[in-house]
Amino acid sequence: MTALNKHVIGQDGALSWGTLGFAHPTLAGLELPYFDIHAPLPGPHLAIVAGMHPNEVDAMEAALRLKAHFAKKLLRGSVSILPVLNLPGLYSHAEFVCPVDGKNMNFLAPGDSQGSFSPVLVHQVLHEWAKDADVFIDLHGGDLREEVARFVMCQLTGNEAFDARTRELAHQFDADSIVEFAVGQTNNRGRATNELPWLGRHAVMAEGGANGVFDQVCIDFHFNGVANIGRLLGLTDDAPAGKTRRNQVVNNFAKVEAPISGRFYLDVAAGEEVAAGQRLGTLKDIFGDSAGELLAPYPGLVLMVVNHPIINQGEWLISLAPLPA
Ligand SMILES: [Zn+2]
Repeated sequence: MTALNKHVIGQDGALSWGTLGFAHPTLAGLELPYFDIHAPLPGPHLAIVAGMHPNEVDAMEAALRLKAHFAKKLLRGSVSILPVLNLPGLYSHAEFVCPVDGKNMNFLAPGDSQGSFSPVLVHQVLHEWAKDADVFIDLHGGDLREEVARFVMCQLTGNEAFDARTRELAHQFDADSIVEFAVGQTNNRGRATNELPWLGRHAVMAEGGANGVFDQVCIDFHFNGVANIGRLLGLTDDAPAGKTRRNQVVNNFAKVEAPISGRFYLDVAAGEEVAAGQRLGTLKDIFGDSAGELLAPYPGLVLMVVNHPIINQGEWLISLAPLPA
């Protein structure tokens, strides 16, 4: 018995599409939309996932555009795309989690074949669907209450040659920032992009978007970055997109948590640089009375903000990447 069952719906030249089912009993009944593009010449295999967080519409839209791009331009190798990984959460606009088991797939890599729905799905996608991928790309960006900078994440391992290639892949995006997670970082683990390099596999994650609305700039950010990776791998030979953004390299980021439940009046935007002690926003209680200010604990680059003004104590409010002094 094979682990994956593809039900082909259509084919047009190099492109085929349909639904992907899984033999694993925990995923019974799941039929994920997929696209496959195969060139006549052999070459590298690129795996692209979007919609792990199904409100992150710019990432999902870029995945659709990339399907059309590679269907037209692929010269060698193959591209596989899962444009809506968290299908159970799509039409309910589930924030962060998969509604089947209430888990956030983004922190479950490398997956668990003995776990509940989400860890099993992550396991099957990483170790079956994408098992022979030369590069795994995970596209994200801005759940319903979030705004994220246009940034890229990749994990360094200490293997110089491997890390140089990982960096090269990540720098194909024209980003506000590239997070090259340091070898010893421990507070940002569990993403596919953090875990696959420890298994000797290249992975890159891109973030760009806000609040579940289309933003053509962010769609282009995702599209151009992946198209550039396709070119780097020799899958296509079209002209690369140029760079205009800051492309600030940082080594990690930390979360600034909401100190109270109440109202938050944000003073900064994603992508902005802040000084140590700079006001990130002001707080008010439920009556509208002042409840203090939230200050930057160190100089940094704002990678994500929750821009919904009603906040819950302890929630991840801002992602702040430390900048060199
Ligand atoms: Zn996401």
